Amino acid sequence: MRAAAFYDKRDIRIVDKPVPEPKADEIRVKVEWCGICGSDMHEYEGGPHGVPTMGHPGVHPLTGKTALPLVLGHEFSGTIDKLGPQADTEKYRVGQRVCVEPIITCGQCKLCRTGFENCCPKMGIIGVADDGGFAEYALARQHRVHLLPDNVSFEIGALIEPLCVAWHAVRQANFKMGQTALVLGGGPVGLAVLKVLHSVGARSVYVSEVADARKVYAKKSGATEVWDPREVDVVQACKDRSPDGLGVDVSFDCAGVPASIKTAIKAVKPRGTILNVALWDRDVPVSLSDITAGEKVLIGTACMVDDFPAVIQAVSDGRLNTDGLITGKISLEDIVNDGFEAIARARDKHVKILASPVKR
Ligand SMILES: [Zn+2]
Ligand SMILES: [Zn+2]
Repeated sequence: MRAAAFYDKRDIRIVDKPVPEPKADEIRVKVEWCGICGSDMHEYEGGPHGVPTMGHPGVHPLTGKTALPLVLGHEFSGTIDKLGPQADTEKYRVGQRVCVEPIITCGQCKLCRTGFENCCPKMGIIGVADDGGFAEYALARQHRVHLLPDNVSFEIGALIEPLCVAWHAVRQANFKMGQTALVLGGGPVGLAVLKVLHSVGARSVYVSEVADARKVYAKKSGATEVWDPREVDVVQACKDRSPDGLGVDVSFDCAGVPASIKTAIKAVKPRGTILNVALWDRDVPVSLSDITAGEKVLIGTACMVDDFPAVIQAVSDGRLNTDGLITGKISLEDIVNDGFEAIARARDKHVKILASPVKR
């Protein structure tokens, strides 16, 4: 099969690989579309980071993967192509349209057994800890394979995973209907959080973003107001817009720069909640006094757990709007130039580029 294999920083090659065989309860998916994620870009531009090459960070405890090359891609949809010998043939059949929840977990530890599989100490991601969706075929265990309703296209199917990341962040925040939020960063994750917040009845969602193209996307995605933090005092603006002058109920840092997390902490009202959605590769100084003084709550969010069915339903019945999230559809054969390099050249102009191994 054709696959985009990650060999090293800025070295992805389209190669021929054997079609993988599903073992035990695994299901083989014939990939239709797979989205390029910011974390894929992170590997491509500066990696290897998360992928398990020897020493970076070693053998993955669940997949046994030890060395590059590795097929990236964890946001994919497709059709069931083959079932492993122990897969549930009542529930899954060849030809069903599906998307894949890419988390790989041990299933044994206390966290896995109590519903917090996304916090499993051994957790890995398909497309990071093992071969993923930038290929003609990919494997996943059956409980990670979710059926797509007829009215959810394969393209939207490839968006379910990033939407679940946003959905889970909003769930972690305990966000309630009628509350207000500040989203820092109008990239793919920030826009997804914005859309999810609208779908659950946010009163106002403000977005802080510096890039012009992203400001436009945020406005189109329904941001109440979009502020450039170089021109607007975002903390003061949040206070000015709130009836009691105290700030927003919840802030979501999707930018992951020192200024954004500081603003996120200061912009929420006392007893408000700050969600750190961004992935960090460095430590940043923040004022913990700003959290202590007003009994603010700073929360992390890791991937997703049990979010796929709810997000698929919300997309299918129209509550969760996905307009404008897909900004490019390319062939897998062109993924380096038209995908990774295109994003590297003009990151702000793209939200989600999808790649397909299917000749169209
Ligand atoms: Zn992702
Ligand atoms: Zn576990």
